[in-house]
Amino acid sequence: MATFGTLSDRLTQSLANLRGKGRLSAADVDGTVREIRRALLEADVNLDVVKQFTGKVRERALEASQSQALNPAQQVVQIVNEELVGILGGQQRRLEFAKQPPTVIMLAGLQGAGKTTLAGKLAKWLVKEGHTPLLVAADLQRPNAVTQLEIVGEQAGANVYAPEPGNGKGNPVRVAKDSIKFARDKQYDVVIVDTAGRLGVDAEMMKQAADIRKAVDPDEVLFVIDSLIGQDAVATAKAFQDGVDFTGVVLTKLDGDSRGGAALSVAQVTGRPILFASVGESLDDFEPFHPDRMASRILD
Ligand code: GDP
Repeated sequence: MATFGTLSDRLTQSLANLRGKGRLSAADVDGTVREIRRALLEADVNLDVVKQFTGKVRERALEASQSQALNPAQQVVQIVNEELVGILGGQQRRLEFAKQPPTVIMLAGLQGAGKTTLAGKLAKWLVKEGHTPLLVAADLQRPNAVTQLEIVGEQAGANVYAPEPGNGKGNPVRVAKDSIKFARDKQYDVVIVDTAGRLGVDAEMMKQAADIRKAVDPDEVLFVIDSLIGQDAVATAKAFQDGVDFTGVVLTKLDGDSRGGAALSVAQVTGRPILFASVGESLDDFEPFHPDRMASRILD
């Protein structure tokens, strides 16, 4: 059987039914659009995002069906792929480095999203690339956060900047601010600032993250989101965009069962690119985000 690019079996089947046809009817297009809608909803993509997406695909597919194209089914496949990859960021976007080091990368997201783990992953990857990252413990909320960062720092071969033990709970904004001066003095070329999250969106947490952002003037603010978050993805992403704003997204726990519908919802609603995917608990389970691979996973 002919393959249809990277799309799923189910969709392939639906499109295979169109293949023999020289021309697509509106009913053919609608049937396929229905399959796409079902696949997206099953992948936990936000309903508004699904509606917008399928509306666009339907419009373009109907237009294509009017033309005398040789292979209308193939055209529909192409439209679906283009639209999905387009929302997911098109080209892969790389990390922005500052012209004048240190490059400052701030991490924000809910507790448990995977920020501290990601800090270690980023540091390990940067060390491999020849950088000298400094990890900054500005999560002074969770009792174990500093120790956890020290553990991942050691695994990554990166130093950790943290408040002196016995220095009370410390002030995370102060710690973050001081760390930049420290990094500059000691010639670290990248600073990764881990911040505190809460289980849910919380005004105090958001203010702290916004204050840290102001204090460190980051080159990148990465919003870290658990891909298993499902329908809460949109509200959470919007809250972080309004509260702290971010330059990019990191999707974690993509090794889990989720189809990754959160990726589509977050990308569409915030317009921010997804830079990395976290795919396991080990520091090596980390990769650049590939919009095309994600497109096929969502429709699987
Ligand atoms: P934080 O509260 O945002 O700093 O989250 P943590 O980094 O402490 O991560 C929360 C939990 O998720 C930990 O048990 C991590 O080992 C786990 N975790 C983080 N990233 C991933 C991932 O990509 N895949 C899996 N399976 N687990 C992850």
